[in-house]
Amino acid sequence: MAHELLIARDRQHLIHSAVPWSMHEERGATILKSGAGIFLTDADGHRVLDGFSGLWCVNIGYGQQSVVAAAAEQMARLPYATGYFHFSNEPAIELAAKLADRAPGDLKHVFFSQGGSDAIDSAIRLIRYYFNITGRPSKKHMIAVDRGYHGSSSIGAGITGLPAFHANFDAPEPTQHHIPAAYPYRFDGDDASLISRSVRDLQTMVETLGPDNVAAFFAEPVIGSGGVIIPPDGWYRAMAATCRDLDILFVADEVITAFGRTGPLFGSNHDDVAPDLMTLAKGLTSGYAPMGALLVSDRIYRAIADRTPSGAIIGHGQTYSGHPVSAAVGLEVLRLYEEGGIIANGRSSGEYLARALAPLRSHPLVGNLRLRGLLAGIEIVTDKRTKTRPDPSLGLPEALARIGYANGLVFRAFGDAMIGIAPPLIITTAEIDILVERLSRTLDAALEIAEVRAAL
Ligand code: PMP
Repeated sequence: MAHELLIARDRQHLIHSAVPWSMHEERGATILKSGAGIFLTDADGHRVLDGFSGLWCVNIGYGQQSVVAAAAEQMARLPYATGYFHFSNEPAIELAAKLADRAPGDLKHVFFSQGGSDAIDSAIRLIRYYFNITGRPSKKHMIAVDRGYHGSSSIGAGITGLPAFHANFDAPEPTQHHIPAAYPYRFDGDDASLISRSVRDLQTMVETLGPDNVAAFFAEPVIGSGGVIIPPDGWYRAMAATCRDLDILFVADEVITAFGRTGPLFGSNHDDVAPDLMTLAKGLTSGYAPMGALLVSDRIYRAIADRTPSGAIIGHGQTYSGHPVSAAVGLEVLRLYEEGGIIANGRSSGEYLARALAPLRSHPLVGNLRLRGLLAGIEIVTDKRTKTRPDPSLGLPEALARIGYANGLVFRAFGDAMIGIAPPLIITTAEIDILVERLSRTLDAALEIAEVRAAL
């Protein structure tokens, strides 16, 4: 199809994820054609550095031929196998065993989904089942943090703490609640008092709802889609410990943070936390095939398995759970992370990125620069002293994304004028230099927008 026709057909027929639909119709799509390493090429032949790994998922970069071969080989041999009726398949078994072996604590049991939203959805369903079957049916309420993102399923969108995922969607449900995020840049106090404030917020919420009525607390080790908000060291551990004290389950949403994104294999490793449940997706297959996973602790799994009457099915399943092609991809991706040294490279590149980005702190538009591993956030302000966000009428996020793209760089520009950077873990120091040079050029160009200059 000719390029113009593709753009027209996209407008007419393709509903895009989380964009203003009418703005998309006006603007039209950018059609991506190919990728190699950390670079993407669009239909106009414009080559850009992908500083966001697609959607923080293509950790191994584009064009890894051993993954292509693993998928093709599995597709030729056995493209599909159901997990219903006690059937199984080799790649799904092997991948589940490897995840169980590496995950913290006793997360020994894996339910595969197609992505993150349905991994969260599965968590919510199984948590309800667990408390009902163990004789505590009043434990229904679930708590998460403002700005957290936990997918856009009917139930999960209410756990998500972003207004756009609630408005007009009748979310959150009455059993879904949020406490403030641990947001150091916008907290007046030191790390220790921020941690105690979050602990108190959770305790107060649980007391208000009644300890016998609260089932679980959900949190990302680092808030991703809410603007790359990095809690103080020790925050995650303190929240997990508080959940244990309050007898509620701790769910680690590691859809972004797992597989080396923040340095270690899992984001929970940073604070040495062993969650009761963990959700994975994105880096699990590096985006080469759709797959997510819910890891369940041995304690929860056993309670469900042993208390469900013998012969009664547990009515949770998906046609594509444990899909053999996605699992074969996941196995090869995991091999590349570990034996191919990609996680180790991500760790040293994260240190280099921290040094390379540091000078941007003095840029007039940069209020806050935060980073853990290869996950970085830049908060744009028009007044550093008052930490004033740019007026939304300036349309700065869209302008930044547009200028960045013209400069050959993809990053995420969040609604609150925050920039998210999450390049593939294969990125080299020379490529980081290119990324940072294009990013500074983009910020400098934003300064030249008359309305932005006037707002400073
Ligand atoms: N949880 C987190 C932390 C995420 O970042 C995402 C996706 N950005 C999801 C859940 C939902 O995953 P998916 O888009 O694959 O459904």
